[in-house]
Amino acid sequence: MKNNELLNKIKSDYDMYYVAVSGGKDSTATLLWCLDNLPKEKIKVFFIDIGNESTITLDYIRYLEQELKHRIWRITPKKTFSELILEKKFFPSPYARFCTNLLKIEPAKEILNILKGKKKNIENIKNTDQIIKIKNSLPKNPKILVITGVRADESLTRSKYSQYDKNNPLTQTDVFRPILYWSVEDVFNYLKEKKIKPNPLYEMGCSRVGCFPCIFAKEKEIKLLFENQNFEYDRKRIILLEEKIGRKFFIHKSLKEKYNYIKRNEKKENLSLFNTSKDKEKEKKEDTDICTVKGFSFCE
Ligand code: SF4
Repeated sequence: MKNNELLNKIKSDYDMYYVAVSGGKDSTATLLWCLDNLPKEKIKVFFIDIGNESTITLDYIRYLEQELKHRIWRITPKKTFSELILEKKFFPSPYARFCTNLLKIEPAKEILNILKGKKKNIENIKNTDQIIKIKNSLPKNPKILVITGVRADESLTRSKYSQYDKNNPLTQTDVFRPILYWSVEDVFNYLKEKKIKPNPLYEMGCSRVGCFPCIFAKEKEIKLLFENQNFEYDRKRIILLEEKIGRKFFIHKSLKEKYNYIKRNEKKENLSLFNTSKDKEKEKKEDTDICTVKGFSFCE
């Protein structure tokens, strides 16, 4: 199907567009694209607040809502990130990534099922009234299109996605990916063109903004947690959780141990005495371990 034909079909065939924003660049660009190309009244925007986001991201969501003059529905899962960890007594990891599944994917699926009239009981989210309000504004058995900010150049898996899926098995709705073939530069340029600032966390050196900290946090993000006053609360929240359940935030290291490890390596690098190729390989491997488990589109 040609681009114009696809756009016309998307404009005419659906009663509602489900757009999830995380405060990240890709979901923001996707939202801007939707507001530019689709009927605004059909665009419903959701932010799932799992209680592990930086206050900078929460402020950014408010900023987006004000600048775009479009409502962003805040959805809270039944259990926050901290409540879930306290219940499970261990942290999620690249090998047991239950945070994304239980705190983001399941609530999103539940919202969609309620809006489609396929489910009546709300089990995974707190904001019953808000969802019912949206449902009541839709026709019976509404046709809902999920629009997501996945980009092909993020990973091999994502490069195999198509721009438009009929009845996607995960969401059980049709799915559209308008920025699939955009580069990172395209995304930032689009935000600039639309006069929308990116989340300030990017300027501070973060590559992920969905949770702060995320279990995939990079060195720069961990350093920010310990060295920037803005993140004191986020750091203390995780350290307190570590103490309460007696487990480490990362697989082999606590948050503090990871920070100390980063600082030690920096010192070694500066002295250029002990930074052996073995150390470098180890560091590289750690980073690769994190990067090879690529994020689902719910976590940006
Ligand atoms: S952003 Fe990271 S910590 Fe948060 S839900 Fe996703 S994978 Fe888990």
